Amino acid sequence: MDQIVHFINGTAYKGRSDRTQEVFNPATGEAEKTVVLAAVGDVDAAVAAAKAAWPKWSKTPALRRARILDRFKNILWERGDQLAAIISAEHGKTHDDALGEVTRGLEVVEFATSAPTFLKGEFSENVGTGVDCYMVRQSLGVCAGITPFNFPVMVPMWMFPIALATGNTFILKPSERDPSAAVLLAEWLTEAGLPDGVFNVVHGDKVAVDALLHHPDVKAVSFVGSTPIARYIHQTGTANGKRVQALGGAKNHMIIMPDADLDMAASALMGAGFGSAGERCMAISVAVPVTDAVADALIEKLIPQIEALKIGPASDPASEMGPLITAQHLAKVEGYIDSGEAQGARVAVDGRNYRQKKQGYENGFFTGGTLLDNVTEDMACYRGEIFGPVLAIVRKQSYQDAVDLIHGHEYANGTAVFTRDGDVARNFSQDIEVGMVGINVPIPVPMAFHSFGGWKLSIFGDHHMHGMEGVRFFTRIKTTTTRWPSGMRADPEFTMPTLG
Ligand code: NAD
Repeated sequence: MDQIVHFINGTAYKGRSDRTQEVFNPATGEAEKTVVLAAVGDVDAAVAAAKAAWPKWSKTPALRRARILDRFKNILWERGDQLAAIISAEHGKTHDDALGEVTRGLEVVEFATSAPTFLKGEFSENVGTGVDCYMVRQSLGVCAGITPFNFPVMVPMWMFPIALATGNTFILKPSERDPSAAVLLAEWLTEAGLPDGVFNVVHGDKVAVDALLHHPDVKAVSFVGSTPIARYIHQTGTANGKRVQALGGAKNHMIIMPDADLDMAASALMGAGFGSAGERCMAISVAVPVTDAVADALIEKLIPQIEALKIGPASDPASEMGPLITAQHLAKVEGYIDSGEAQGARVAVDGRNYRQKKQGYENGFFTGGTLLDNVTEDMACYRGEIFGPVLAIVRKQSYQDAVDLIHGHEYANGTAVFTRDGDVARNFSQDIEVGMVGINVPIPVPMAFHSFGGWKLSIFGDHHMHGMEGVRFFTRIKTTTTRWPSGMRADPEFTMPTLG
């Protein structure tokens, strides 16, 4: 069985720990590889390599750093299929979906190649007589990224391209459930010309994460994952003096107004609710039709489409939805459907106990698409993040009731409204307390040159990911004030200097 090992200082690194974990192919249900789980000493080795590489890398001209990232970007364009195949084999998502993930990550690399432009500082001449002042952005040092299973390429690439472009060195701790893609990214960065030690990969679980959070030489931690872990990472990292951005879980609502194009809304819900088997932090998991008439008409359109979903492995190009990540997650998702039913929701389409018939995939972690109607705010299936192909319908009779519903939820990652009314759209965009908003766009994921992040319990920390927010997170500003001898006063100055 293949074993996936760390990548430290430009090379594969087996490490000192004898702890390993199985890596499954979710479509077959078979453990096909193992991954090593780091001991504290392995994290120390990665931090030491990154620390040693930082002085030279941070002083490498930004244009030269950008050119290395540009070569890396070209490799990604050429070999995206290879990366997508690895994502599908360990995550289960369809090939086209995996390729889409690679492209969205690559776009952050494209943004990062403009580092010489976004690192330009500010200069003020004559802030006082003969006194000039300038501000520059400098790197932090060794930065760490801790990432979830659901985007094993895109989420790491929200972080490291900007961290590297701005002169930091980096340690990626990818999800132990789909760890291979991270190693391939490290190899391709090296091939693109990245010096050894600038980018390292450490595999592992809580032991590795805690070692990063407590290491005095790690200056910043960027995290994406579930809310309880995000909160823990933020609390522990900041208590240890680190800069931390920690993005958490989600429960995204889509309001469907009576004037909306219902065919468009139904198609949008199919993609946003069931794409990637609902394992997306921007998936729509709650549809909020305004009025019962809209709810009934929408459900009539959704039921046949959900029943017709083509569920299968990524090896079948016709598949629209793959398996869930693990057997445990499958049980958790179906448990939410059980509890919804027990609390009074109507199971309009039941995806439980789905069995994949394709030969070789009978034991995969597949579930069918599920539609729950008459879901209410008190139900566990409404409050919790299911992270599976389960769409809940919460019926509301007015726009304001729908907005109040969204404001009553503790998560606030993304949301959308489907309407033809400009007033409703503008009010929604302006007043809704959610970080990312779509107007007739179901998954409003910002492009790489904008920034990604939610509000409330969907984020801990002040900075969203990528775009200029990413640049701010991975740099600190330094302001220098200069005066040359010809402008200096001879006598000492004891009062606070002012222009007078
Ligand atoms: P997770 O929180 O279980 O794991 C994320 C990372 O934390 C992994 O690298 C894991 O090894 C590590 N980790 C897990 N338990 C830990 C512990 N006790 N102590 C220290 N580290 C620990 O999340 P997941 O299941 O891999 O991913 C799914 C979650 O990620 C969902 O909640 C989803 O909404 C969220 N997510 C959020 C965004 C966003 O942008 N807000 C994007 C993608 C995924």
